[in-house]
Amino acid sequence: MIIIILLVQIIFFIPIIFTKQFYIAKHIDSTLNQNEIIMNPQYDYNQYKTIKLLHSKTGEIEEINLDEYVCNVVSAEMPVDFQMEALKAQAVVARTYTIYKLVTNNQKHPGADICDSASCCQAWISKEDRLARWDENLRESNWKKIQECVFETSGKIVTYEGRPINAFFHSNSGGKTEIPINVWGGSEYPYLQSVETSGEEEYSQYYSEVTLSKEEIINKIKEKHPELEVDFSKEDCISIKEYTESGRVKTLKIGNLELAGVEIRTLLNLRSTSFTFEINENNVIFRVTGYGHGVGMSQTGADSLAKQGKNFEEIIKHFYTGVEIENM
Ligand SMILES: [Zn+2]
Repeated sequence: MIIIILLVQIIFFIPIIFTKQFYIAKHIDSTLNQNEIIMNPQYDYNQYKTIKLLHSKTGEIEEINLDEYVCNVVSAEMPVDFQMEALKAQAVVARTYTIYKLVTNNQKHPGADICDSASCCQAWISKEDRLARWDENLRESNWKKIQECVFETSGKIVTYEGRPINAFFHSNSGGKTEIPINVWGGSEYPYLQSVETSGEEEYSQYYSEVTLSKEEIINKIKEKHPELEVDFSKEDCISIKEYTESGRVKTLKIGNLELAGVEIRTLLNLRSTSFTFEINENNVIFRVTGYGHGVGMSQTGADSLAKQGKNFEEIIKHFYTGVEIENM
């Protein structure tokens, strides 16, 4: 009996184990080539009528209706006085961003699909908190406007070759968007190209000037790079070595170090990597254009295009190359 059982195991179970491993390896390999994590092509989108949202402060996981969630995200991510078509574009992009996380087996938040933190997933604000920050007489009409933009685009997502895209977005591109490889490294996404948008410069609140003393700069960089040595009496103590294709700072030379523009942005707390600088006696003044990583849809760019008469589909297709807007 024992011999027969062993034979059955050898004949049936060992081949199953081998083919399973082979299947998984092959599947990962072929999908990685397309910049995707494992994605089931036959996903049943009907199961995404609700999502599980992690409240990062309390650790509580709440199951909520997808469009209700998108209303809260749109109202947290974009000023309500932006054009309707820009808000609709934001709704479709936020929904796509969410669905992409759901279909790509995202293991970031066990038990939840997405969290409410802007620095991790995408911003979310409760309706109560949102209303409290608006003038009392505008609360009802503002919330109605958000709901209209979300419900009118209900079920719509941005796809590339039939799959939801990784829909990055940011505040203001300064006129030209960035490709993701220059921000996070990794590989290219065919739908995330550098595109130009007119009218971005009219949103002057996204153009900033940061004055830091020479000592502050040294201290901030030394936190990460204690080997820094810089002699500010030399004329070329700080210089831009290389720009990205979109005109952002790719490499900055400071003293004996060469640092990536994205790292300098984080260390010095600049709003973007699109900057110039001026050194005077005690300080360095950084003049920063735009706000955010610059990849994907620019929110002020969307508003600017809406003012030029573009609808939400045209806005989305402007920022994401070769995409379609499809019903889930
Ligand atoms: Zn998150």
